[in-house]
Amino acid sequence: DAAAMSRIGLAGLAVMGQNLALNIAEKGFPISVYNRTASKVDETVGRASAEGGLPLIGHHTPRDFVLSIARPRSIIILVKAGAPVDQTIAALSQFMDPGDAIIDGGNEWYENTERRLREAAARGLLYLGMGVSGGEDGARHGPSLMPGGHLQAYHNVQDVLARVAAQVDDGPCVTFVGEGGAGNFVKMVHNGIEYGDMQLISEAYDVLRTVGGLSNSELAEIFADWNSGELESFLIEITADIFRVPDEHGDGELVDKILDKTGMKGTGKWTVQQAAELSVAAPTIAASLDSRYLSGLKEEREAAARVLDQAGIGGEVSGASLGRSIDKKRLIDDVRQALYASKICSYAQGMNLLRAKSEERGWNLNLGELARIWKGGCIIRARFLDRIKKAYERNRVLANLIVDPEFAREMVQRQGAWRRVVGMAIEAGISTPGMCSSLAYFDTYRRARLPANLVQAQRDYFGAHTYERVDRPGSFHTEWSKIA
Ligand code: NAP
Repeated sequence: DAAAMSRIGLAGLAVMGQNLALNIAEKGFPISVYNRTASKVDETVGRASAEGGLPLIGHHTPRDFVLSIARPRSIIILVKAGAPVDQTIAALSQFMDPGDAIIDGGNEWYENTERRLREAAARGLLYLGMGVSGGEDGARHGPSLMPGGHLQAYHNVQDVLARVAAQVDDGPCVTFVGEGGAGNFVKMVHNGIEYGDMQLISEAYDVLRTVGGLSNSELAEIFADWNSGELESFLIEITADIFRVPDEHGDGELVDKILDKTGMKGTGKWTVQQAAELSVAAPTIAASLDSRYLSGLKEEREAAARVLDQAGIGGEVSGASLGRSIDKKRLIDDVRQALYASKICSYAQGMNLLRAKSEERGWNLNLGELARIWKGGCIIRARFLDRIKKAYERNRVLANLIVDPEFAREMVQRQGAWRRVVGMAIEAGISTPGMCSSLAYFDTYRRARLPANLVQAQRDYFGAHTYERVDRPGSFHTEWSKIA
């Protein structure tokens, strides 16, 4: 009875799967759900009926689950990346028919997806690796979706994805990203950019708090104010909220009681590794990753603070004391501008990494369209992504966001504030690796002549690596030691 069959299936009912299943059901698509541990199936079905009797059908065996879905079947998998995905595919695919599709929504390494695409194709199955961003809330109410792989698999679920995704002024936050593992790769870079954004925001916080002496309630107000301007974004919004949350176990705000150690799950590291593999400079994203590593060395840092305090560093760079009074209003405005300019450099790096990979793999990624689907639903959603979208629409082969005429103007307008903030942080001994990396990236990229001539001379001196000249074509070598 085809009428009784589900439109789609979803396997893996942890945080993401459960919420995405409820979202799909809420949009009116009958959906079958399955999880290895059966109790989560019952829990999800229970939640669906509590949330208004959504059309959701639970199954306890892979066979019943697969056979309950209308053909050609589309099954979304949301389990832990890696081996669990292979195991889930093995459990389900034995009951699937040629033309059916598997859609992995996890944060998967793109090469795993490419292997599974080939394995699926050998059995006549279609496959998508689909980046899903927006966390729990996004999955439930509208995520940003980045599907890549078999185009036919995308066509089979396009209507569902378009309804389930976050909706923005120019459409749903979903697009067919490209072939192969393009969807997972784009999601990976999205997460790398997310690392950069979070690091830059934490540096703005540090400068305002440590140099400016601002309280949590002042910070909450500032971030809320920033969220109504050019910095408007999900991460700025939640940051404002964070400063307001009191500590239920003591005085003051919770943020001050949180151990200064940042966790990570690997997508930031993959982004930096890929940037290195492709010879793309991504210093802001790399600085964010390094900052997470250094944050993990809590005990070493405490010991280092003691050693360097005893050696007398404290008097010079105590952070709070710049030895002069700070114009708070000016500082706040400068930090806002430094944050914005730093962010543009970070996005420029992420976009250029995507372009390099796209060229290597022939994915034909549309950077403007990717900026568009990040405008809603995902963690990096922000007002300024619309401007990035427009920059790539103006010029599809834009070499770098920094040289888009609009962004170029904004960078130049903000460079004074940006240099003041970084300079003040350096003077106060406050590390701002993200802002410094962005500024160094900007200052390197915009200079027509760099000191790389000297490095090349050194390479030729000790290794006969040859050099080119600025004034004539060809490749040259000099016997430097004989002449000097
Ligand atoms: P998760 O904690 O990554 O994974 C738990 C799920 O995986 C459970 O359904 C579990 O089933 C299943 N699982 C684990 N090992 C399995 C195996 N060997 N065979 C079958 N199933 C297995 O879940 P999540 O946080 O919802 O994330 C799902 C995916 O989405 C991950 O790739 C994650 O990186 C990605 N993601 C997460 C977020 C987020 O905010 N959490 C955001 C974007 C993307 P049992 O119940 O039987 O153990």
